[in-house]
Amino acid sequence: MYWSKTFIPTLRENPKEAEVVSHNLLLRAGFIRKLAAGIYIFLPLGLRVIHKLERIIREEMDVSGAQEILMPALIPKELWDETGRWDIYGPELMRVQDRNKRNFALGPTHEEVVTHLVHSEVHSYRQLPVTFYQIQTKFRDEIRPRFGLMRGREFGMKDAYSFDRDEKGAEESYNKAYEAYNKIFKRCGLKFRAVYADTGQIGGSFSHEFMVLADTGEDFIAVCSSCDYASNISLAKNYLENVKDDALSGPVEEIDTPGIKSIEEVSGFLKVTPDKLIKTLLYKAGKEFAAVLIRGDLTLNETKLSNYFGGREVELAGEEEIMKVAKSPAGFIGPVGLKGIKILADHSIENIINGVTGANKKDKHLKNVNYKRDFFVTELLDLRKVKSGDMCPQCKGSLQIVKGIEVGHVFKLGLRYSKSLKAVFLDEDGREKFIVMGCYGIGIGRTAAAAIEQNHDKDGIIWPMALAPYHVVISLLDINSETTKSLAERCYRTFIKNGIEVLFDDRNEKPGVKFKDADLIGIPVRITIGAKRAVNNEVEIRIRKTGEVTIVKAEDLLNEVNKIILQNKGS
Ligand code: ATP
Ligand code: MG
Repeated sequence: MYWSKTFIPTLRENPKEAEVVSHNLLLRAGFIRKLAAGIYIFLPLGLRVIHKLERIIREEMDVSGAQEILMPALIPKELWDETGRWDIYGPELMRVQDRNKRNFALGPTHEEVVTHLVHSEVHSYRQLPVTFYQIQTKFRDEIRPRFGLMRGREFGMKDAYSFDRDEKGAEESYNKAYEAYNKIFKRCGLKFRAVYADTGQIGGSFSHEFMVLADTGEDFIAVCSSCDYASNISLAKNYLENVKDDALSGPVEEIDTPGIKSIEEVSGFLKVTPDKLIKTLLYKAGKEFAAVLIRGDLTLNETKLSNYFGGREVELAGEEEIMKVAKSPAGFIGPVGLKGIKILADHSIENIINGVTGANKKDKHLKNVNYKRDFFVTELLDLRKVKSGDMCPQCKGSLQIVKGIEVGHVFKLGLRYSKSLKAVFLDEDGREKFIVMGCYGIGIGRTAAAAIEQNHDKDGIIWPMALAPYHVVISLLDINSETTKSLAERCYRTFIKNGIEVLFDDRNEKPGVKFKDADLIGIPVRITIGAKRAVNNEVEIRIRKTGEVTIVKAEDLLNEVNKIILQNKGS
């Protein structure tokens, strides 16, 4: 394609509205334009990237055995009523009426439609398992559409749904989708991790998020530097080393600690390390109260606590509530003698020998406190928050907290939708059973944006080869030199004949402008063709990512470029 005939409206200035790199660069490099908040037009270069991504996704989904279909964006209210989601979804669901005042939603996701399809068409175990997928536009009235393609209100998604006879089958389908996703993001040339994830609003029992690692990501994930362990921070676990084995000392001893409340104050005052303290916090989940114990040097992970209460929101109790429920002044609460209340403890308190806790009396603490000798708990759980440097629960390696962008999500759904939409089948044993489901999504625009967040420099985008709108850009410098021009034309045709996607910068612009634009739009390989070298039949190859330059004879160019493309294919 000739640059002069392509619509690439690059901008010199940073657009004011762009808060993140990918948004800024997609606008500046002329890939997208905004129509309204969270709603974008894809320009020629932008659409080429989207098509590349979609092609990779289609190929891998097909290989995994999923079948492509296309469902409508307009979905009648009645279907949403059957699952209850017309009400549950809230304002994020875009609602429209037809001329007869019938209500529809613009699909934010398609469990209702696809399960309805399967309810109507699948009746026998012989038709299972089946996985359907589509690449289609989704609508979500996000509270804060932002960051360009990252969080739009209209956006492309690949969504897939699996249907199986039983749990075991559903797990196999889940694993197939998981494998397909690994291949997709690998082929895209992205650094990513599949992380254990919360099951969130859709519900279900098993879930991974695919995270592209980037400093600008909004999600925190714990990753192991030695093995493949990766988890959303809200669920991350760590391996706890046993604290050194002191001998049990004498009985519990009450000591005066006037005005001494916080962990730092207590450990300073009593000259004990914080890992000797049994921190006791009073939490409430709805109307229920619980005392929560954790080692003094560790932090409580409220999501884990909330998960214990079935996802209910949890909050710290106030001073009056502490007095009423635990009969203790705030700051001096402890598990010894605590009655009539559930005590939940992190495993870390199990190994504290001769610990220190509040005495449930003003200005008093207890020394020589030991679990199972001086107090018991209702339940021992994993309630701690993981931090960088903690030990990996899988291999004891070192965990690091890094930032990521969620580009894909796989869920084992179970029976949630098959029950409400009556997706049943007749099994081999003649019994009618509910179909077990899974669902799997990839954000198309968000993946493209995440690729930029991960691959850019001060000059612009650095596309991974697999997603680049073109493999190669030819920057023709001396457009008035016939030798140079005809050499460039020859190279251009050779590339096209050999299936290399090439953009030919034939514009009447200064070299500086051409180089700046080529860097900005992020084409992985630049071929510079100028009069000085053209007389010797030579051209310059420059790699966008490294800035590395090599001079080659024109007849060797195709070979060299083919090699570079192959090396950077991403799989
Ligand atoms: P988030 O927590 O970021 O809102 P989600 O959990 O709502 O995401 P899913 O319902 O699992 O997302 O959708 C599947 C994929 O669609 C996500 O992994 C993400 O890549 C993409 N996606 C979700 N919401 C948006 C959006 N508003 N704009 C662009 N892509 C999105
Ligand atoms: Mg969302």
